[in-house]
Amino acid sequence: MEAAECGVCGVKVMCRFRPLSDSERSRGDKFVPKFNGEDTVVLAGKPYVFDRVFPPSTEQIQVYDTCAKQIVKDVLGGYNGTIFAYGQTSSGKTHTMEGNLHDPHMMGIIPRISRDIFDHIYSMDENLEFHIKVSYFEIYLDKIRDLLDVSKTNLAVHEDKNKVPYVKGCTERFVSSPEEVMDVIDEGKANRHVAVTNMNEHSSRSHSIFLINIKQENVETEMKLSGKLYLVDLAGSEKV
Ligand code: ADP
Ligand code: MG
Repeated sequence: MEAAECGVCGVKVMCRFRPLSDSERSRGDKFVPKFNGEDTVVLAGKPYVFDRVFPPSTEQIQVYDTCAKQIVKDVLGGYNGTIFAYGQTSSGKTHTMEGNLHDPHMMGIIPRISRDIFDHIYSMDENLEFHIKVSYFEIYLDKIRDLLDVSKTNLAVHEDKNKVPYVKGCTERFVSSPEEVMDVIDEGKANRHVAVTNMNEHSSRSHSIFLINIKQENVETEMKLSGKLYLVDLAGSEKV
């Protein structure tokens, strides 16, 4: 499983290894990667270097602190960012991006980011006024489906005046606390489950995208900043 981060300092590639599952262990699979320092994994004697490697013992909070914490500051500073998880089915993408949304220890990157954004805002200049909205959609068989409005099953990608692509007509929900963000995610996941017959198959073939859009205005100076953060759980890489 890999997670890449695109912030002010470019693109970073981190590679996380999950532990063997019970079924893998019971059929006799062996854990073969060896780790060398913080950035190298050795497979069959061959070293592979990333910005960072995470062995199976790595906890959710460590992944968050290394991969995602900084990007929250960047987005609040008016930059755009993306974190996406890439890897084959069952490699740990959803575990890394979402984890257990309601367990403080096991929650993944998306819930931690939501919490952090509001923590930052509470500690920032009180002249700053924030508008935070989120969207949640998936791409399945080349169609964009709105996970917050099941009637929108084929949304189009357009470009804004700065030639930046966006999903036209996608539902946007204003949120004012981390709890509200979690409610939106739960709602989107429930919609997805209802619309789909075989969830495992579906989630391995679809990309899911959670978008956090932060606009701020200093009411004294009228200075405005805006930043978008895309959090993407890609389809299983074996199908691409
Ligand atoms: P993917 O989204 O890439 O298909 P999942 O995130 O659903 O894969 O992970 C597959 C299984 O492995 C899940 O049961 C998940 O809980 C477990 N898993 C993934 N990563 C880890 C990890 N780092 N530690 C413990 N269990 C993990
Ligand atoms: Mg998944």
